[in-house]
Amino acid sequence: MVQEIAPAVFSNAYTPCPPDAQSRAALFQGQSLLVSDDGCEMPLVTELAEGKENLTYLFSIDDVRYYLSSEACQLPGYSALSLFEIRKKAPRKELFAAYTAYHLYRWYSSHRFCGRCGGKTVHDAKLRMLYCPGCGLQIFPTISPAVIIGVTDGERLLLSKYARGSYSHYALLAGFTEIGETVEGTVEREVMEETGLEVENIRYWGSQPWGCDAGVLMGFFCDLKGSDRIHIDRNELSLAEWKHWCDVPDGIDDVSLTSEMMRAFRRKWMQ
Ligand SMILES: [Zn+2]
Repeated sequence: MVQEIAPAVFSNAYTPCPPDAQSRAALFQGQSLLVSDDGCEMPLVTELAEGKENLTYLFSIDDVRYYLSSEACQLPGYSALSLFEIRKKAPRKELFAAYTAYHLYRWYSSHRFCGRCGGKTVHDAKLRMLYCPGCGLQIFPTISPAVIIGVTDGERLLLSKYARGSYSHYALLAGFTEIGETVEGTVEREVMEETGLEVENIRYWGSQPWGCDAGVLMGFFCDLKGSDRIHIDRNELSLAEWKHWCDVPDGIDDVSLTSEMMRAFRRKWMQ
């Protein structure tokens, strides 16, 4: 999955310090990130023309520290690619760095002003927190919980395709958790809303950070309860159908929890 970058080690401890010669800079324009044409690496801070005072510390991978640059620019040998394009061509470590940097970029750029009083926020010196000097509001990073759902009926798994967006492969059902809801409740609600099916025996499988949606994904398998007849929500899905395990795609990609869960379902029946 995207976060599995061993032997490299990711550290999100907030230890702001000045960049050094091997530090890299995340330069976003909307959902596009400036990465090298060979290898999808972010540029070195030393390659930036502007001063280093506009950099915000993000995280480190091994000894390389990553910083957010507040101003986008162009550099020879680098191109601005969408996260979707980066997903298709970047090595795992570079992809995880891009997704994680995007999550932080989205949070920092959306909280430059206080949502309570409208004052300009400032960066706290010790915590990954933005602070409003005017009213004292403390703003911590926002992570949206969401579920990935493998609905099973014996040797069959429910697969779907999204009605919107650029991802055209088979997927599992998914959805964000609402305020006041348990994640198990999200599983039951999303399956019912998108397919009209009831489920039971909900069991946790695993999770992954998913920075391109500012989220953390939690994967669950569950069993069909009652009728297997699908009533599809056309606003959310273009297709939803039962697939025998031997027809479940193996290896759409090696970065997503969805693909890992599909593979796990196949492996379970193959043995
Ligand atoms: Zn305020």
